[in-house]
Amino acid sequence: MGKQVPVAEGVFTWPADEPRLLGSTCTDCANVMFPTQSSCSKCSGQSTEVTELGRTGELWTWTVQGYPPKSPPYAGDVDPQTFEPFGVGYVELPGELRVETRLTINDPAQMKIGMEMELTFVPLFTNDDGDEVVTFAFAPIEQETP
Ligand SMILES: [Zn+2]
Repeated sequence: MGKQVPVAEGVFTWPADEPRLLGSTCTDCANVMFPTQSSCSKCSGQSTEVTELGRTGELWTWTVQGYPPKSPPYAGDVDPQTFEPFGVGYVELPGELRVETRLTINDPAQMKIGMEMELTFVPLFTNDDGDEVVTFAFAPIEQETP
């Protein structure tokens, strides 16, 4: 039985009881960026610090990726025979930024702009060591139907 390993170092805290995405905050203008950056995309400041981002946000926009992705952090099953379309979108983390992310759902009927989403982790593939490679995704927070 392999262990779970992150798809890339420094994208999220791992292992952790409650993993979080890692971003950068500009120490000059407080701009928040994801993934981590060594200089600020807004003010070009050269001073940033690593920040743990929030775990919940609202779906800002979404689409369904119908073909295998080419590169991390979305790498995974690239076999056209077994590939399954998956949702991708932007989730707005309040007061922070919009994160481009894989979604755990791929049915357009399930997706609503503004729906509450929560950070989770999904297996992508098993590497040569038998470890399960995981990446981050956002899942809808179960709402009680009135
Ligand atoms: Zn800045």
